[in-house]
Amino acid sequence: MEWKTIIEPFRIKSVEPLGFTTRQERLKLLEQSHYNLFNIRAEKVLIDLLTDSGTGAMSAAQWGGIMIGDESYAGARSYYNFENSIKDLTGYEEVIPVHQGRAAEHIIFSMIGGHGKYMVSNSHFDTTRANVEASGAEAVDFPAKGALDFDKPGPFKGNMDIEALEKFIKVKGAKNIPMCVMTVTNNSLGGQPVSMENLKSTQNICRKYGIPMFLDCARFAENAYFIKLREKGYNQTPVREIAQQMFELADGAMMSSKKDAFANMGGFLAMHNTEWAAKARQLLILTEGFNTYGGLAGRDLEAIAIGLREVLDENYLQYRIRSTAYMGEGLMRLGIPIVTPPGGHGVYVNAKKLMPHIKPQNFPATALAAALYLEGGIRGVGIGTLMFGRRNAKGDFLPADMELLRLAIPRRVYTQSHIDYVIEVFGHLVKNKKAIKGLEILEAPKALAHFTAKLRPISKGREDSVEGKGRRNKELLYPKP
Ligand SMILES: *Cc1c(COP(=O)(O)O)cnc(C)c1O
Repeated sequence: MEWKTIIEPFRIKSVEPLGFTTRQERLKLLEQSHYNLFNIRAEKVLIDLLTDSGTGAMSAAQWGGIMIGDESYAGARSYYNFENSIKDLTGYEEVIPVHQGRAAEHIIFSMIGGHGKYMVSNSHFDTTRANVEASGAEAVDFPAKGALDFDKPGPFKGNMDIEALEKFIKVKGAKNIPMCVMTVTNNSLGGQPVSMENLKSTQNICRKYGIPMFLDCARFAENAYFIKLREKGYNQTPVREIAQQMFELADGAMMSSKKDAFANMGGFLAMHNTEWAAKARQLLILTEGFNTYGGLAGRDLEAIAIGLREVLDENYLQYRIRSTAYMGEGLMRLGIPIVTPPGGHGVYVNAKKLMPHIKPQNFPATALAAALYLEGGIRGVGIGTLMFGRRNAKGDFLPADMELLRLAIPRRVYTQSHIDYVIEVFGHLVKNKKAIKGLEILEAPKALAHFTAKLRPISKGREDSVEGKGRRNKELLYPKP
């Protein structure tokens, strides 16, 4: 018998209380935190969907591993467990531990980047882009056609646009392109997967021009499971084998273990190239630590080694992908526009389409995040104009192309009733959506404004200026280039 109900494939041994607050308290907290949910104490959040990074629940086996972590400075047993787990999975000979994904990015791009170089990708994640740019190189994305059409579902909307990629290589010259990065799943575009076929085609092009292809594999297991579900010829293949085939196509990988390794901290850089690895280890010692710990405690290495095996359990992956889709379907039933289909690690609500009464310069995605917290104590994050707004050379303000509210789902943390609650709160919110007001800026730094900006609800007659009349510092928030 195939049962219809897909259950959480774990039972709960250790629990944490949730932070209940009243609407009145939350209104006060919102005012105190200047309508920026990054400034709210986590204790005051009931359901925290800010990120799936480092927020997962570790298993009893992982906690057991924590207790037997070997904290020796050099040659710790936990390092060898970590190395073996990664070698078994990826087949790469060189394994370099780092404290989190961006440290791997910093090391590799400071080695191969620099002015006049281009890194190409299906979509660089924001820290990946920042590290490419910090080296002086340019990060260029080639998302598949249709990836930005949020309403139209597709099985592999995370894919690379192969033709655009090859055209670019021909124009810029392969010698100026030190790496192609395939992000699996494609985080910036809604956690959408990349097909095996697309990985193969990208690898063919990279081989043809002698460009190394690396996976940014934070969510490799979710991607592999999507291949099993959606790509022809894989429905009988064990997910572990699919993942191994993905790694086999690439020359190396960088990973944030805060995602598909169920760890609260950690990451790695792994590859075949021994010369690159030797260079990387020199940089590792400079900023992270010795080769066999790289910025991590022995116990972290142990937890990652175990997590990388656990994440390929197909009962887990079935539950993971199904539970994300469950939230997405619940919101769609309420008529809420989301990025379809739901991705692996979260649901992205299209705030622009949901609330056309809020102008982009009044930050619809951020306003929706604040409203969701006010009504239900739920924390998501706005991805839109507050993050990506800019000004052209003439001084005109250019809002972001998209206004999305990301609801990321921590791994193994919330149950179905928590998600039912989120859906119920949204039901209330959409009925009263006209009452949701845009926001204006009181104070904000010029870079990465979304983390620390201070905002307040916009008052009547002030909706047209992105600078917001109530602002304390009067200079342009989004300066001319
Ligand atoms: C999270 C993430 C990173 C960065 O990893 P950190 O551990 O947060 O430094 C890089 N790439 C992708 C695709 C990610 O999701």
